[in-house]
Amino acid sequence: MFSYRHAFHAGNHADVLKHTVLIATLQHLIQKDAALAVLDTHAGAGLYRLDGDYASTSGEAGDGILRLLSAPALTPALQDYVDMVRAFNQGSSTKVYPGSPFIAQRLLRDHDKLKVFELHPTDMRALAGNVAQLEAGRQVAVLHEDGFEGVKKFLPPPSRRALVLCDPSYEIKSDYGRVLDMVADSLKRFATGTYAVWYPIIPRPEAHDLPRRLKTLAVKAGKSWLHATLTVKNSKLVESADGEKRRPGLPASGMFLINPPFTLKAALKDALPQMAELLQQDRHAAHSLESGGG
Ligand code: SAM
Repeated sequence: MFSYRHAFHAGNHADVLKHTVLIATLQHLIQKDAALAVLDTHAGAGLYRLDGDYASTSGEAGDGILRLLSAPALTPALQDYVDMVRAFNQGSSTKVYPGSPFIAQRLLRDHDKLKVFELHPTDMRALAGNVAQLEAGRQVAVLHEDGFEGVKKFLPPPSRRALVLCDPSYEIKSDYGRVLDMVADSLKRFATGTYAVWYPIIPRPEAHDLPRRLKTLAVKAGKSWLHATLTVKNSKLVESADGEKRRPGLPASGMFLINPPFTLKAALKDALPQMAELLQQDRHAAHSLESGGG
C-alpha cells in the first residue's frame, strides 16, 4: 500500500495541472474576508528537492514545471503557478518544489486554517518537520491519519467556508470509491464547500468512471461543477528494447471540482491550451474543459 512516494513525481505534468487549479481556486476564495478552512486529505511531504535522488531518477519535473520556467510568455494562471514555485527558490535555479500544503499555506491569511493529512510514516515525518520550520506553523495542523475519514470531523468548519483538496495516489483500487464516498458524505455535512479532486486518466474502469460519478453526484445535489483534463502523451503500450510492452508512464490527469469559483473556468480556458502545448510529449497532447450546474 505504501510504495507511492510523491517525491518521484513532484513538479510533473499532473502537479502542473493540480497546483495551477489549486492556486487559481484559493486566490478567489481568499478575496472574501471570512476565514477559510483548507483540508488537504492527502498531503505528501510538503516540500521536494528537484535536485535530489527521487526527482533526478524519475526526471518527471523536467517534462513539467521546468519546461514552464523557460517559456517566454505565460497566461496569468500559469504565471501565478510559476511565480509560486519561484517563491520557494533563491536566485535563478529551481531546486525546491512546493507540494499542496505549502502552496496553500503561502496563500492563506493569518485567520485561515489548514489541516493536512498524511499516512505514509516517512512522508509524515518529512511533512511535520517542514511545517515546523514555518513561522505560521501553528496555523497548520498536520495529522497522521486517513484523510478520507479524518476530514469528517472538520466539516462543517466554524467559518462555513472551506476548500477540500483530495489527491490520493490511487495505489489501491478502492481509493476511487473512497473519493466518491468522501465527497458524497462531505456534501451532506457541508453543502457549500468547494471540493477539488485530482485523478489519473489511465486505462482502468474505476479511473474512467470517477469523473462521471462525481458529475452525477454534483448534478443530483444541484451543485455547480468543473472538469479539466490535461493529456501530454499517448496511453498505448510501447515496446521497449527488451521486447516487453510497457505503459509509457502517466499520460494524462484531470481535476474535478464541485462548487468551483466562478472565475476558474475563464482562467483555465486560457491556461489549459498553453499547458498542453508546453508540456506535450507527443502529438496526442490535448486538454478539455467542461462545466455545468449551479
Ligand atoms: N497533495 C500532494 C501535493 O499535491 O503535493 C501530493 C499527494 S500524493 C499524490 C498522495 C499522498 O497520500 C502520498 O504521500 C501518500 O502517502 C498519502 N496517502 C495515501 N493514502 C492516504 C490516506 N488514506 N490518507 C492520507 N494520506 C494518504
